[in-house]
Amino acid sequence: MDTNLNGKTAVITGGARGIGLAVAESLAAEGADIALLDLLDTVEEVAQKIAAEYRVRACGRRLDVTDQDATTAAFDAIAETLQVPQILVTSAGIEINGDSTDVTAAQWRKVIDVNLTGTFFAAQAFGRGLLAADLPGSAVLISSMSGEIVNVPQWAASYNSSKAAVAHLGKSLAVEWAASDIRVNSIAPGYVLTDLTQQIIDREPELEADWISRIPQGRMATPLDLTGLVIFLSSDASSYITGQQIIIDGGYTAI
Ligand code: NDP
Repeated sequence: MDTNLNGKTAVITGGARGIGLAVAESLAAEGADIALLDLLDTVEEVAQKIAAEYRVRACGRRLDVTDQDATTAAFDAIAETLQVPQILVTSAGIEINGDSTDVTAAQWRKVIDVNLTGTFFAAQAFGRGLLAADLPGSAVLISSMSGEIVNVPQWAASYNSSKAAVAHLGKSLAVEWAASDIRVNSIAPGYVLTDLTQQIIDREPELEADWISRIPQGRMATPLDLTGLVIFLSSDASSYITGQQIIIDGGYTAI
């Protein structure tokens, strides 16, 4: 199976930490040049570490993915500095938990804005670049098993809805761009131990054991549990797979 990504440029939103960072390192290990887009101030520093460790070209840029013009400008700059990106992984995302009866308009809009609209803006900029250059490409959207099922005991209607929409956004773009050889798939992780979940556990420590008790494999994922599939979907090894969502959840949704 050929998963070599030499000569390709990959953009990873939310790539400065967590799942996005693990994905960026795994794509760099396959030879891809890396462009990280993230709110975190450390994004350029993280990119330079990847460049040094994996001997690829890399750049990092501070970006809020909810800003459409800034996202377009970031993709244009990456095309100038590296080349037109042929791989996209959208990992920028947030979660705000709480009873639906208490959710404010601002909280609701923020989650939908970052998770759904931000994913769309990144995919849009990616697709525009490929179509203009007449190049093939592959986008992997990080959704969530929460877009397929309602995981408990915490309540997160905005998050769950945003992730269900991300999966259908992936299918919609996959069909729209299929004839141009641009593939779009999504990966729906179960519980992954990152800063995002650690912050939830810090607020409610009893959740960790509760979550694990519901996972058939008996543990939360690490970001590395996701990277094999990201590499596969980003590479030509998956050239006839598009418009799909694949769940990686240790069996959670199989029950
Ligand atoms: P992290 O919070 O560890 O990393 C997310 C990164 O995205 C952070 O660096 C964050 O920056 C950045 N980010 C947030 N908002 C924006 C924005 N508007 N523009 C640009 N960057 C932004 O999360 P994870 O790595 O755990 O999660 C990554 C993705 O995977 C998310 O989409 C999440 O919903 C999804 N996922 C995670 C699961 C888990 O259990 N961890 C399970 C299922 C799905 P900052 O820190 O400054 O906000």
